Amino acid sequence: MGEECKRTSGGHEVPEIKFTKLFINGEFVDAVSGKTFETIDPTTGEVLARVAEGDKEDIDLAVKMARDAFDCGCWPRMSGSQRGKIMMRLADLIDQHAEELAALDCVDGGKLFSHVKFLEIPKCAECLRYFAGAADKIHGETLKMSSEMQAYTLREPVGVVGHIIPWNFPSTLFFYKVSPTLAAGCTMVVKPAEQTPLSALFYAHLAKQAGIPDGVLNVVTGFGPTAGAALSSHMDVDKISFTGSTEVGRLVMEAAAKSNLKPVSLELGGKSPLIIFDDADVDMAVDLARMSSFYNKGEICVAGSRIYVQEGIYDEFVRKSAEKAKSWKVGDPFDPQVNQGPQVDKEQFEKVLSYIEHGKSAGATLLTGGKACGERGYYIEPTIFTDVKEDMLIAQDEIFGPVMSLMKFK
Ligand code: ADP
Repeated sequence: MGEECKRTSGGHEVPEIKFTKLFINGEFVDAVSGKTFETIDPTTGEVLARVAEGDKEDIDLAVKMARDAFDCGCWPRMSGSQRGKIMMRLADLIDQHAEELAALDCVDGGKLFSHVKFLEIPKCAECLRYFAGAADKIHGETLKMSSEMQAYTLREPVGVVGHIIPWNFPSTLFFYKVSPTLAAGCTMVVKPAEQTPLSALFYAHLAKQAGIPDGVLNVVTGFGPTAGAALSSHMDVDKISFTGSTEVGRLVMEAAAKSNLKPVSLELGGKSPLIIFDDADVDMAVDLARMSSFYNKGEICVAGSRIYVQEGIYDEFVRKSAEKAKSWKVGDPFDPQVNQGPQVDKEQFEKVLSYIEHGKSAGATLLTGGKACGERGYYIEPTIFTDVKEDMLIAQDEIFGPVMSLMKFK
């Protein structure tokens, strides 16, 4: 009997979810423990699918397969040009499946469907093509040490790489990490965020179709403190790359140092200021400030969440920002008229609302928004505070939600 089809808060049909298991050595497999976890549609709060819950044992298995593929497999041994050709095929497959992939990030992460389909997915394919082109151009240098001696440097793949991915850009960050890793001839284990595991599993399927050999690209879905920690502390992972919160970045660096001292790349949080002077084009500055604070519902590490406006244009800026916020539409992320979908999950939703409460109780003036909206799901109104002071929590912490803090300067 067919299940009744699920719908988002705006009535859009939820896409079919084809891949929910771990991808290890070219096969979709259950977690060793048999455990699964729920991934939620943030437009409704309803369960989208149950996904395999990988843990240390699954990470061990995936790393072993990546190690075998690195030590004995063809990927690091084939020419860069051959690797590039396979990566190009993957890029084409991504373009062909843009609609389906965008629907997955939309329903899993509350991201705007049209933005993912027309901006992010094409950028993922572009990123792959860029690194595909670089795969046969990985050169060393010849160094003249003295009249009798020369030295040379040789760039070699580092080995097995661990990638830990956050939920705000599940596709883009997957390919920012995976593409150069593939080009260099490394093998890898990817741990997507537990909030948004679906597109990564689809990419694993496409990678196999493109001809990426088994064991090169493994995807282990699961939670951070279990699967993520097992990856960052693994003795046989040669390098770890992490994008996410500053707090977890510290844990990853610590785990890497305490295990095998693997090199670490961290891309962490921020609290980026915009500084707008009296001579600015105010309309344009208001538009840019709105975009930088509310784009991707503020779930972005480079969100312009502290806006410093010079006193000569401050009042005009405030007035125009309030007007513009009214035309910023919050709703079902499949709707092309909508500017902002729901926060990724209940935890983030509650966290952002609690920051808004902090702002109010600390004495900032609430200009627009300030509360949840919609009958269900994790929607928050675009919120603007004025009269924000430097020492308020909303001016200090990364909120990761649609909250703009306006501050006046002389
Ligand atoms: P956020 O706080 O924005 O949710 P996190 O930094 O917690 O982001 O998550 C980013 C990624 O890091 C996710 O894939 C998550 O599962 C993973 N993660 C969380 N905790 C740990 C940990 N202790 N060790 C390794 N990875 C972790």
